[in-house]
Amino acid sequence: AKETGRGRYENYRPEMDAEREERNRLEVDLRIAIERREINIVYQPVVDATNWRLIGVEALARWTRKGYGPVPPDVFIPIAESSGLIDQLGLFVMHRACERIADWPGIKLAVNISPGQFRDPEFSQHVASMFRKTGTDPSRITLEMTEGYFIQNPDRARAAIARLKKLGVEIALDDFGAGFSSVGYLRQFGFDRMKIDRSLVHAMSEGDHAVQTLQATVALARSLGMPVTAEGVESEDQALKLRMTGCDELQGYFFGRPMEAHEIDVIYRTDRGR
Ligand code: C2E
Ligand code: CA
Ligand code: CA
Ligand code: CA
Repeated sequence: AKETGRGRYENYRPEMDAEREERNRLEVDLRIAIERREINIVYQPVVDATNWRLIGVEALARWTRKGYGPVPPDVFIPIAESSGLIDQLGLFVMHRACERIADWPGIKLAVNISPGQFRDPEFSQHVASMFRKTGTDPSRITLEMTEGYFIQNPDRARAAIARLKKLGVEIALDDFGAGFSSVGYLRQFGFDRMKIDRSLVHAMSEGDHAVQTLQATVALARSLGMPVTAEGVESEDQALKLRMTGCDELQGYFFGRPMEAHEIDVIYRTDRGR
């Protein structure tokens, strides 16, 4: 198939078919894994910035694909989003995690929400009924969202946030500093918390300018009465600087990687003195 000039085989690459096929297979396997409840959930500790004690966890989905091994969430979440599986997957993660935090009184739970989920007008009803079923106090729950949908669809995003806030959950803007979001956004959409992306935290080690940017950002959020979580904290030095900057919650490998629930049990008993 090698024609000269404007031949229609000109841009044909056999790899394209192979890629598409592999993606389809991934999607099929993911669908099966969700149906069979084979998605695992790990929990990353979130600590109080002043005393480093456990105050919350973030639920993160994990998938070990049969015959292949672990597939990173940065790969399977986008597939779930583009194939309509995200509603089912997202609610499953939230449901499981809500059941689990019953064992950790006083601990908050953060769950990631994809735009695809919260675009569904019935999403807040699904969440409300799941809270009832699991006996979850909504004030323990933070829903984390990234800015993408807010930029594309500001009016609908604002309405969706308002519906969710009526349930009594906290809404956090995730990955702040990784995109275009400004502190103005936070206020405009009614976010309750700002979550600083790890790229900003890591930039802090590289010089004064980044520290100043971070300080100004956090100060602005605080002046709006908005609490701030920093993620991707990998060193004691970062933890101390972030505390001085005004972050009230910290999360990152320095305090703990995402781990199995039974490992959180141990930290919980130690930190909560039980
Ligand atoms: P995210 O919500 O920003 O989650 C934080 C990510 O940073 C996690 O990656 C976590 O393992 C990683 N991380 C935590 N501490 C550190 C650190 O100190 N250093 C570094 N380098 N990384 C750290 P993970 O688990 O691979 O998840 C990636 C993304 O996938 C998440 O980013 C989130 O956007 C998405 N995701 C994961 N689970 C779910 C889910 O159940 N639903 C939805 N919608 N998205 C999910
Ligand atoms: Ca998150
Ligand atoms: Ca994040
Ligand atoms: Ca992210």
